[in-house]
Amino acid sequence: MLLVWPMPSIGSQKTNKHGKGSYYAYAVDTSRCIGCCACMRACRAENDVPESFHRTWIERYRVRANGEVEVDVAGADDHVFRAVEKEHVAKAFFVPKLCNQCDNPPCVQVCPVGATYQTGDGVVLVDRSWCIGCGYCIMACPYGVRFFHPVHKVADKCNFCYHRITKGMNPACVESCAFDARRIANLRDPDDPVTKIITTERVAVLKDEYGTKPHVFYIGLDENVR
Ligand code: SF4
Repeated sequence: MLLVWPMPSIGSQKTNKHGKGSYYAYAVDTSRCIGCCACMRACRAENDVPESFHRTWIERYRVRANGEVEVDVAGADDHVFRAVEKEHVAKAFFVPKLCNQCDNPPCVQVCPVGATYQTGDGVVLVDRSWCIGCGYCIMACPYGVRFFHPVHKVADKCNFCYHRITKGMNPACVESCAFDARRIANLRDPDDPVTKIITTERVAVLKDEYGTKPHVFYIGLDENVR
């Protein structure tokens, strides 16, 4: 985890790399997530995600006073966290995860046929008609967000609900979150309220040391999260 404040590179992203138009990013406020997993159910319904797979998931962290950290995830199919023994923990919290739509995506670099690519508005997509299912991108992603789609026989992952955001709608997960834990931003719009949060508040990205330059920014991210 790296705390990034203020954001170092958004100015260049706004004007240099992709020209005019939207440039999407995503904000996750971990202090707002209650682990209800409505987002996972909405994603499955919107994107026809097959059973036992997910494009987004929620991790539950339980940190004991001695520093031990226990992490589990909601069930892949029922989207419910298992009950745990009542015990004292120093802190407990939930962390939504999804594709980081990296600005420097290793998945794109390793794809031998160009089926995984970046759009001009900062989203990484998979072209199912070109993907040969080799799995290189699944292995290259340091965040483990890709899976092999058992029906379509191609790589699959979150795409910020590209079919929705390019029509001005929220991703299904954002729309379904009653607590505003998930929000989408257009970094090229300085008046966008989420862009203002990303550019002026203390935010963090996951595994910054890999140089992937994620587009998913976390507010209130605990130091134990990887
Ligand atoms: Fe690619 Fe993984 Fe980055 Fe998403 S999180 S853009 S799948 S490397």
